[in-house]
Amino acid sequence: MNQASNILTLPTEPRDFGFYLDGGWIASGDREVFERASPAHGVPVTRIPKCTGDDLNAAVSSARAAFEDRRWSGLSGAERAAVLLRAAALIRERSEEIAYYETLENGKPISQSRGEVEGAASIYEYAAGAARSLHGDTFNNLGDKMLGLVTREPIGVVGLITPWNFPFFILAERVPFILASGCTIVAKPSEVTSATTLLMAEILTDAGLPAGAFNVVTGSGSEIGQALIEHNDVDMVSFTGSTAVGRRLLQAATGNFKRLGLELGGKNPQIVFADANLEDAADGVVFGICFNAGQCCVSGSRLLVERSVAAEFEALLVKKLSQVRTGDPLDPQTQVGAITTPAQAKTILRHLRGGPEEGARLACGGSVIETDAGQFIEPTLFSDVTPEMALASEEIFGPVLSMQSFGSVGEAVEMANDTEYGLAASIWTKDLDKAVATMRQVQAGRVWVNTTITGGPEMPIGGFKQSGWGRETGAYGVEEYTQVKSVHIELGERVHWVS
Ligand code: NDP
Repeated sequence: MNQASNILTLPTEPRDFGFYLDGGWIASGDREVFERASPAHGVPVTRIPKCTGDDLNAAVSSARAAFEDRRWSGLSGAERAAVLLRAAALIRERSEEIAYYETLENGKPISQSRGEVEGAASIYEYAAGAARSLHGDTFNNLGDKMLGLVTREPIGVVGLITPWNFPFFILAERVPFILASGCTIVAKPSEVTSATTLLMAEILTDAGLPAGAFNVVTGSGSEIGQALIEHNDVDMVSFTGSTAVGRRLLQAATGNFKRLGLELGGKNPQIVFADANLEDAADGVVFGICFNAGQCCVSGSRLLVERSVAAEFEALLVKKLSQVRTGDPLDPQTQVGAITTPAQAKTILRHLRGGPEEGARLACGGSVIETDAGQFIEPTLFSDVTPEMALASEEIFGPVLSMQSFGSVGEAVEMANDTEYGLAASIWTKDLDKAVATMRQVQAGRVWVNTTITGGPEMPIGGFKQSGWGRETGAYGVEEYTQVKSVHIELGERVHWVS
C-alpha cells in the first residue's frame, strides 16, 4: 500500500499458482504456464499452469470418487451448511487478498472488488441455509395403500465454466449452491482470471470440504474448457459466457446428454418513461452502463427514452458520464477501471468506429483514454440510434450506451423485445400501473423497476430466449443441480396380478 496516496501498489513479481486437485495444490511442474499481465498496468501479476488432458481426467475422477462414495453428498444439509458458513468466514478473513488479485487480473476498481468479495461471502451464508431447506414433496392423497414421495438428489459431477468479468462473484453465485445440493465440481475459470477461483479452492478445503468435492483445472477455454464440456463422466455443465460458446456447448453435450445450465449474453433495455424522476433515472442508466466498464451480462446497454424527454435526458446523461472517474483500479476513488482483455478492447473500439459510420450521433466519449499502460475507454453515448444498427443489436460488452426513442408504452415494449436476448430489463417510471404493465410484457429473466443491477442471493437469475437456460441463486439455484425421483411405496398386502 502506498500510504501517502492510499493506493495499493503492484506486486514486484507475479504470484505462481498451481492448480487444485483432490483437496490440494498441484504445482505447474513442466506444464506450460500462462503469465497474466494486469490489464490496467501491463505488468505480470500471476502465473497459471495450462492443465493437460490427463490433469482434466484426474480432476473429473477425483470429483466422481468424492460423489460416488458419498463423502459429501451423504452428509446432512446441516453438515454441508457448516462448511459453507466456515467458507464465508474465511472469505471475509482473506478479503483483501482476494480483492487485490481480482483487481490485478480483471482491471476492475478495488472498491468494487471489495464489495463483490463481501457480497460473495454473504451468498455462501445464504446457500448454507438453502442446504438445510432443500427438500422434496410427499403425496399422502394416493389412498391408504400408497404413499408417494418426490425426492431431490444431487445430479453428480458438475463442470463449471466461468468468465472473466466477475470471476469471484459469478463463482459464488454457483459454487455454494452446487455444493449445497450435494454435487461435486470441476471448475474451469477463464484463463485470464483464474487466481481467485484457485484461492477459493484453498478456502473450501480449509473450511472442511472433503477432498475431491471442488477441483480447479486451468488453461484456455478452447482447449481445457472444450475438453471439460465434452467429457462423458461429467453429468452437468454450468456455463456463463458468450452465446457463441453456449451454442458449441449444446453440441458437445450430446455425447452423454449432460444437463446444461447456460447464462449467456444480453442487450438489455433501459426503458425511461417521461414521468420518471429523470435525475434518478440518468444516474441509474449511467451506473448500468459503466459498472464493470460495461463488461456485464446485465449491463443496461440499450437505452429507450420517451421522445418528449429525450433531449433533456440526453443532456443529463452527458453531464453525468463526463463526471465518471475512470482510471487506475488500485485507486479506491476509481469508478471504472480497465477493459479486461485486448480482444474485448478491440471489439469495443470496432463499435466506437462503426457507430458514426452507421449514422449514429456521438453524444459524448468515444475514445481510448491514453495512458502509459493499460486499456481504458471513455464512457460513451451514441444517440439517434436505429434498430438495424449494430449498436442497437450486438452485445458490445463495454461502456457504450446506445439511445433510441419511443412514443408509447406499446412501442417501448416492442423495441425492448426486439432482440434475440432476454436477460434483463430496467423500467423507470413513477406510474405503478405502467411499471407493472411493462414488466409483464418485457421478455427478460430479470426486471428492475426504478433501479438497475441490484439484488441478492434470495432472487433467481437467468435468461429468457437466447440468454440462456436454467436459474442460479435463490431456492431455484440449488434445485438446478438436483434431479427429481418419484417414489411409490405400497403398504399392506398386495392384490396379486397372478392369482
Ligand atoms: P467466451 O464465451 O469465449 O468465454 C467465457 C468462458 O468460456 C471463459 O471461461 C472461456 O475460457 C470459456 N471458453 C471459451 N471457449 C470455450 C470452449 N470452446 N469450451 C468451453 N469453454 C470455453 O467469451 P469471450 O471471453 O470470448 O468474450 C466474448 C463475448 O462473450 C463478450 O464480448 C461478451 O459479449 C460475452 N461474454 C458474456 C459473459 C457473460 O457474463 N454472460 C461473460 C464473458 C463474455 P477462456 O477465457 O480461458 O478462453
